[in-house]
Amino acid sequence: MQEIFTGNFTQQDPIPEEGIQAALNIMRSGRLHRYNVAEGEAGEVALLEQEFAAQVGAKYCLAVASGGYAMATALRALEVKPGQKVLTNAFTLAPVPGAIASVGAVPVFVGVTEELVIDLDDLVSKADAADILMLSHMRGHMCDMDALMDICDAHNIRVIEDCAHTMGAKWRETFSGRHGVMGCYSTQTYKHINSGEGGLLVSDDEVLMARATILSGSYMLYERHLAAPAAEVFERVKYDTPNVSGRMDHLRAAILRPQLRDLDTQCQRWNERYQVVEAGLEGTPGLMIALRSSDETYVGSSIQFLLLDWEEDRIQSVISRCQRRGVELKWFGGAEPVAFTSRYDSWRYAPSAQMPKTDRVLKGIVDMRIPLTFSLEDCALIARIIRAEVGAVYQGS
Ligand SMILES: *Cc1c(COP(=O)(O)O)cnc(C)c1O
Repeated sequence: MQEIFTGNFTQQDPIPEEGIQAALNIMRSGRLHRYNVAEGEAGEVALLEQEFAAQVGAKYCLAVASGGYAMATALRALEVKPGQKVLTNAFTLAPVPGAIASVGAVPVFVGVTEELVIDLDDLVSKADAADILMLSHMRGHMCDMDALMDICDAHNIRVIEDCAHTMGAKWRETFSGRHGVMGCYSTQTYKHINSGEGGLLVSDDEVLMARATILSGSYMLYERHLAAPAAEVFERVKYDTPNVSGRMDHLRAAILRPQLRDLDTQCQRWNERYQVVEAGLEGTPGLMIALRSSDETYVGSSIQFLLLDWEEDRIQSVISRCQRRGVELKWFGGAEPVAFTSRYDSWRYAPSAQMPKTDRVLKGIVDMRIPLTFSLEDCALIARIIRAEVGAVYQGS
């Protein structure tokens, strides 16, 4: 009898009880807006910012309405102008070129390697095209960050990191989001901490963070922040910085704070699951799992494998055969954007020259979420199903 998986790929862990209680307290107080605090009260949002800054070792942190908003705010804080080119990954998701387009700037796509990281040779060849790189650590794969920063420093390129999939991950000893001038995180439901929607922005640069804070809609209440630059820095930028409201509220911050305290444990739980799937897929003929550097401490909240140079209909066949057995795989190679997946050449607002090496990789990328609600046995079963179905299609049965 064929094994079938009956779990749900989009079911998250519940919010910790402590977060539920904190959220109830906020609702009972009626004070949901971040600047609506009682005498002597810091507020959940300011505390979250302070705690996240400490956790990743950043001087400053700002909590906002979404990860996409954090990225657009970083671009605005860096004074990106309409028409300006911004480098970014060809292998990423729609909110990344979307954030660039939202400030009127133009994405310039940089290719992807078989390790699923940004192609540093392609980056060098395009380095003179722009002075900002929006680097997306897509699906948690980090490139050699030392090499990337050397290239960017040599070309005066400032790096914004999109850490939507790398909250808690490190390159050597440094947290993702702390190599570039600004780091952006998402707290949307499918990321590493869950407030439905939400985002965090970190930096050590006081002027950029003062601008970002005013941009987010702080009015002149920035002194209520605990992880913001000194008031004197705001004095320098406050007349020139528009308000583009996108604040976080106390309710979301209240449910995020206990999750942040659990982040290390959750990351370990993700990696245990990832490693079971990875071990189960290893050595499957025709299937390649991206090699990871020993300098990378990743968070395995999803897994990718390559069916490199497979014909489209055979990849489709693997996906539908797995689907029939309850295993939801996503394919990045499809010509049309579907659900969360899309290709750089789908975006007509950002025309790009074709990149044959990148197209070859994208065509073969298969992607699967690993929710924490899966047990290790679930993960082993899923790997057996994928292995069997890839094997069956590979052998042409
Ligand atoms: C989810 C995501 C974002 C943005 O997050 P939102 O909070 O949904 O705006 C950015 N980049 C990548 C790669 C993402 O997957």
